[in-house]
Amino acid sequence: MKYLITGGTGFVGSHLAEALLAQNGEVYLIDDLSTGSIKNIEHLKTNPKLHYTINSIFNEPLLAELVDQCDLVLHLAAAVGVRLIVESPVRTIETNISGTEIVLKHASKKQKKVFIASSSEVYGKSTKIPFSEDDDMVLGPTSKGRWSYACSKAIDEFLALAYWREKKTPTVIGRLFNTVGPRQTGRYGMVIPRFVKQALTGEPITVYGNGQQSRCFAHVSDIVEAIIKIIHYDQAVGEVFNIGSNQEITIEELARKVKEKTGSKSVIKYIPYEEAYESGFEDMLRRVPDLTKITKAINYRPTKNIDQILESVIDYFKKNDE
Ligand code: UDP
Repeated sequence: MKYLITGGTGFVGSHLAEALLAQNGEVYLIDDLSTGSIKNIEHLKTNPKLHYTINSIFNEPLLAELVDQCDLVLHLAAAVGVRLIVESPVRTIETNISGTEIVLKHASKKQKKVFIASSSEVYGKSTKIPFSEDDDMVLGPTSKGRWSYACSKAIDEFLALAYWREKKTPTVIGRLFNTVGPRQTGRYGMVIPRFVKQALTGEPITVYGNGQQSRCFAHVSDIVEAIIKIIHYDQAVGEVFNIGSNQEITIEELARKVKEKTGSKSVIKYIPYEEAYESGFEDMLRRVPDLTKITKAINYRPTKNIDQILESVIDYFKKNDE
């Protein structure tokens, strides 16, 4: 089978490419290297079944050609990371909405199946735990920039579902929760690569707020396996699935764990949110996925716990510079 991965040199995209190649798939990937890196696919480049194009999905004739060549499209190209959203809101909104529009338009012309990578951000600041796919979105006002990301991803979902309902283009939506592993960069704000790098270089480990906010972290290998299974599950078409782990940890505890596991002398430093992001920044306190739907569909269960996840990231940073 031939797969097209948009955002294929990104963190999740490169792992997905690797896993599909390992299953003897043929992988085409397109990436403009805005947040991805060619280094992420360096080890795959000699594989004759990998074809990569460094270009933008906004190059429509090229994208149309690539969609035409493939059987299934995995749309991962997006502006990611809270820091990027706060610092470059125009780019985030435009990339996430127009990019998905273009991919769906071309996939629809050829009636190719599309997986849309959405985000747990769409649940917004809902306090209901855990988050189920049919829950209401609870978003803050438009004056607070961070909510633009959630809205952009929600529009992507609406559009993908509309293409299925109206044009019968088969679409599957995955709401990815916090995903971690080797090759993720801390440059765009993601907490685990940041903490690990800080610990390994002896810099202060920067906990934002009081550190009582929690997250559930899944290893990228579990996420990629779930994506591959769900795209091949016929009844997933026209459906939204949470994909992640439901093992919760507070950010303060995470900082302590990273310090302990690296044997670091770094101090743990608490930084107010307004200093870390922007004034009036709203963070989610908890974010736990309900995994019932995906477990029923593909018998999904995350296999790696937070200790194994941290060990794999620490090992990666010991061997690689960012
Ligand atoms: N965070 C932190 N220090 C950092 C980076 C992030 O305390 O250097 C916190 C952040 O405020 C959030 C959590 O870690 O509460 C997860 O942040 P990340 O950006 O990785 O993911 P998201 O907020 O999208 O869940």
